[in-house]
Amino acid sequence: MISLEDYYDLVGDKVISTIHKKARKILGHHVLHINSTYQGGGVAEILSSLVPLMNDIGIDAGWRILHGNPDFFTITKKFHNALQGDKINLSDKKKSLYLKTNQDFSVYTHLNHNCIIIHDPQPLPLIKYFTKREPWIWRCHIDISNPNPRLWAFLKKMIIKYDHMIISNENYRKPNCAVDQTIIYPVIDPLSLKNKELPEKSINKFLRKFNIPMDKPIISQISRFDKWKDPLGVLEIFKQVKKSVDCRLILCGSMASDDPEGIKIYDKVKKKAKKYIENGEVILITLDNDILVNVLQRISKVIIQKSLKEGFGLTVTEAMWKKTPVIASKSGGIPLQIDHEVNGLLIDPSDMNGFAQGIIKLLKDQKYAERLGQNAREKVSDNFLITRLLEDYMDLITKVLYGI
Ligand code: UDP
Repeated sequence: MISLEDYYDLVGDKVISTIHKKARKILGHHVLHINSTYQGGGVAEILSSLVPLMNDIGIDAGWRILHGNPDFFTITKKFHNALQGDKINLSDKKKSLYLKTNQDFSVYTHLNHNCIIIHDPQPLPLIKYFTKREPWIWRCHIDISNPNPRLWAFLKKMIIKYDHMIISNENYRKPNCAVDQTIIYPVIDPLSLKNKELPEKSINKFLRKFNIPMDKPIISQISRFDKWKDPLGVLEIFKQVKKSVDCRLILCGSMASDDPEGIKIYDKVKKKAKKYIENGEVILITLDNDILVNVLQRISKVIIQKSLKEGFGLTVTEAMWKKTPVIASKSGGIPLQIDHEVNGLLIDPSDMNGFAQGIIKLLKDQKYAERLGQNAREKVSDNFLITRLLEDYMDLITKVLYGI
């Protein structure tokens, strides 16, 4: 079982001792996280590390899942997109299924906790259906800088019942929403399968298993096949890079069951890259496998993240942690992580030539690439590890419970 002690060698005694100090006022308190999936997506990934760590330091932490049928998840996916700016037909039918699913869950769920933390919009309405006896926190993991106004007005009536709201970026702050708001940046777990150190033997085994040749430098984008991640743009950049440096491109994006658009984008990329796929210069991977992601982020000479829009960009954090140089778009949460030419390269998403030239430089100048990679590891170590999130939660729970 995961324990805070396991992180000692990575973060040092000061961080571990600070977490224990911060937990003191709330030891034995009963804290409940609720979201809508045990696996898949960043939220489940963070909770599967955070909840055992909270328990390990003496907080009585639990995790429950809101149950919903496929219609409910179709609606909440539409809500998710509309909160990020898409259009939506906000019908009474959608609203009522959304609310009813939450109401049904409340009927057979007993709450007797000191603090409730609700993640994302799916279980947001639960607060309507319980008699409130403790502070409730809404943790919003998505980009709400420009939400659909009608949807926002509908949700806001529920959000203001909460005692606190957590967002991931200053740009997502809502001045017209009278709830206390705190910014907490996402993190990675350095000991998870996706991020832990791997012995060379395991790396080589994986490369053989997935037929990944290492005769030429590899550049990769590891991201869902999604229009906002611009895999077609990555392909164009690769074509330009290849004129100067012989290399391979890997596009790895697992297919999420709640993302019907993934397969369409994948097919488009496959068609456009046909010639390169046939001669093995482009490799497309759709498997969902944490160790494979870990391996690819380690063996690539450059990791690209050419997002047109990006909430935070955990793929950037993951690669930076592994000291692999990253070239990524100046969009969303990426500039919070990359300082241009210090610990990675930040390029305007429309600047295709800038991306290509940056990659060529990283491929040709190994010392430069190594320096950026080393600095990247330090940036993540100082700012984006799970131990920092644990501290943030200790602070916030103490604040909502005791006002300090
Ligand atoms: N990911 C994965 N397999 C893939 C592609 C992505 O496990 O084939 C993971 C990736 O490692 C990261 C997460 O999915 O942990 C994506 O998070 P990010 O914040 O980069 O983007 P999002 O998909 O949430 O927009």
